[in-house]
Amino acid sequence: MKREGVLYIISAPSGAGKTTLCKEIIDIFPHLRHSVSYTTRQPRLGEVHGKDYYFISRDEFRRMVMDDEFAEWAEVHGNCYGTSIRTLEECRASGIDLILDIDIQGARQLKKRYEGGVYIFILPPSYEELRRRLNGRSSDSDDVINRRIDAAAGEIRESRWYDYIIVNDQFSRAVEELKSVMIAERCRTSRVLEAVTELFDIG
Ligand code: 5GP
Repeated sequence: MKREGVLYIISAPSGAGKTTLCKEIIDIFPHLRHSVSYTTRQPRLGEVHGKDYYFISRDEFRRMVMDDEFAEWAEVHGNCYGTSIRTLEECRASGIDLILDIDIQGARQLKKRYEGGVYIFILPPSYEELRRRLNGRSSDSDDVINRRIDAAAGEIRESRWYDYIIVNDQFSRAVEELKSVMIAERCRTSRVLEAVTELFDIG
């Protein structure tokens, strides 16, 4: 059945497991893609331009902002990140569902712009577990970890305006919950009504 692509906007405090969850769900659904953002941050080891991010200069980012090329953008941990309008429009028109792994500031901007988007917040089961997970990432210093824990309360407070909250306690269950949300959203009347009307000639 023909229908527009769905935008899934996913946010979480750092350490909730959002990135792993997003990767897992993309492997499950063939019609689902990861929205490739633009960023001014340097690529990490193994990251590929055009796949993980479009890595661009601050000047280029500024130009894109001035030219209104972003559906949303924000500064996160000292670097700029943005989602291009073109990426979203192309996927929507071609029926491809997109996952946007973006921060809360960006999600807030999109909420005003894309009413049909599905806003999902991923929570860790507790602060203790969040700290344990952040400690497990050898790449981060104690200072960085403490700043992320401090930021988490403010971020978690924002979960109230998202459409769904998924607690990533047991990974397999969180995957199942995210899958269920996506399956249900594909069946939402507002997304399929046009196609049904055409198919059964009930206009
Ligand atoms: P990282 O640098 O670790 O890949 O991402 C840092 C943060 O930036 C994460 O919270 C991620 O969700 C967020 N982020 C990634 N892309 C975008 C984007 O296009 N827009 C916004 N607002 N945040 C983004």
